[in-house]
Amino acid sequence: MTETLNRDGVICMLRGAIARILAGHESLSKLDSVIGDGDHGTTMVRAMNLIEKTVAESAAPDLAGMLNDVGWAVMGVDGGAAGPLTGSLLIGMAEAVGDKQQLDAAGVAAMFEGGLAKVRTYSQAKVGDKTMLDALVPAIETLRAAVTAGDGTVVAMRKAAEAAEKGAAATTDMVARFGRARNLGERSRGFADPGATSISLIFRGFADALA
Ligand code: ADP
Ligand code: MG
Repeated sequence: MTETLNRDGVICMLRGAIARILAGHESLSKLDSVIGDGDHGTTMVRAMNLIEKTVAESAAPDLAGMLNDVGWAVMGVDGGAAGPLTGSLLIGMAEAVGDKQQLDAAGVAAMFEGGLAKVRTYSQAKVGDKTMLDALVPAIETLRAAVTAGDGTVVAMRKAAEAAEKGAAATTDMVARFGRARNLGERSRGFADPGATSISLIFRGFADALA
């Protein structure tokens, strides 16, 4: 894989994420059955199947158009909070890409920053609130820091995946302040957040695809 991503390169990354979620969905539902309603794995599988279908069918010849189609497909997924949050990440990524057809490492970082900004228009959650932001924020901050320090796309995305995994693991000790798990209060401690775990799988899938 190259250091510069075009439409096909981003599709390849999306497919890496799809593979990781399909392989890990049972553990996601298991986590959600402890601190939520047990549907997170199946919702994410549905979202990933919609991504695959949209990638195959999207007529948009440009990178942003394809990402936008994928994002809107995911926005409409049946099931809870995860659909709109994941969909908004993708739509924000599309907006940040604009008319660029090739992304260098800085362009990749800007794409993910656009995604995070969009997620923040849907969620008030901050790092420490035991949500998917606990994986997403460190992943994207690490990506930007790596690129600023001179890393290329492949290395920077690997570091982002590591940061997402660390962030997801750290949610185990947190008390949920958003989503269904919030109702559990202190009892939400001791288990990782399903959404943060999904994000860590997604970023690991992105990094796999580039390696
Ligand atoms: P639901 O909770 O509606 O059943 P899912 O089970 O698919 O939806 O997703 C649950 C995950 O969604 C949580 O683990 C958390 O990471 C994320 N989540 C829920 N609400 C929010 C929110 N307001 N902000 C950020 N993330 C959230
Ligand atoms: Mg759920």
